[in-house]
Amino acid sequence: MNNGQMGHCSPDKRLAAVCGLFCPACTLFIGTNEDPERLKMLAMRLQLPVEELKCYGCWSDKRSFYCREKCKMTKCAAEKGIRFCGQCTEYPCVELKAFQVQMPHRIELWKSQERIKEVGYEKWYAEMIELYSCTECHTINSAYDMACRKCGTTPSCNYVRLHKDDINQQSSKLMLQV
Ligand SMILES: [Zn+2]
Repeated sequence: MNNGQMGHCSPDKRLAAVCGLFCPACTLFIGTNEDPERLKMLAMRLQLPVEELKCYGCWSDKRSFYCREKCKMTKCAAEKGIRFCGQCTEYPCVELKAFQVQMPHRIELWKSQERIKEVGYEKWYAEMIELYSCTECHTINSAYDMACRKCGTTPSCNYVRLHKDDINQQSSKLMLQV
């Protein structure tokens, strides 16, 4: 997992978030596992200690401040004894809808929940690797890496190719782009 090329790895269920996000494509996850400079820069921008941003995935032992303190879905899912929001009788609930519209890396959450239900999380996981990998060097990029973080190819992956207008709009607002 240390070079971002996860194509050969088997699915890791800890990295399949309750909400339908794919943890390996999160900029905090990338920063934690592969790019300490990125994590430092994010910590400066967000004005939080680096340690608070470290995250090894939704179901790992160490999650970022946001995932630990701010995420309502993980707490809710734990109470209800479900693994993914899509399995809930209240899906899609108001909380998840509000979460989904906030940021452009969440655009495909509904699609993710549907795919997990239809084909299972293993197949969905492989599709996510495909969606976020650089078509040239196969490095997994985040939705906010407009160019591949390893080889510089633009767009960095199919997700960015599909949603670049929404991502650019949001990034200029929040200065999230790394
Ligand atoms: Zn690349």
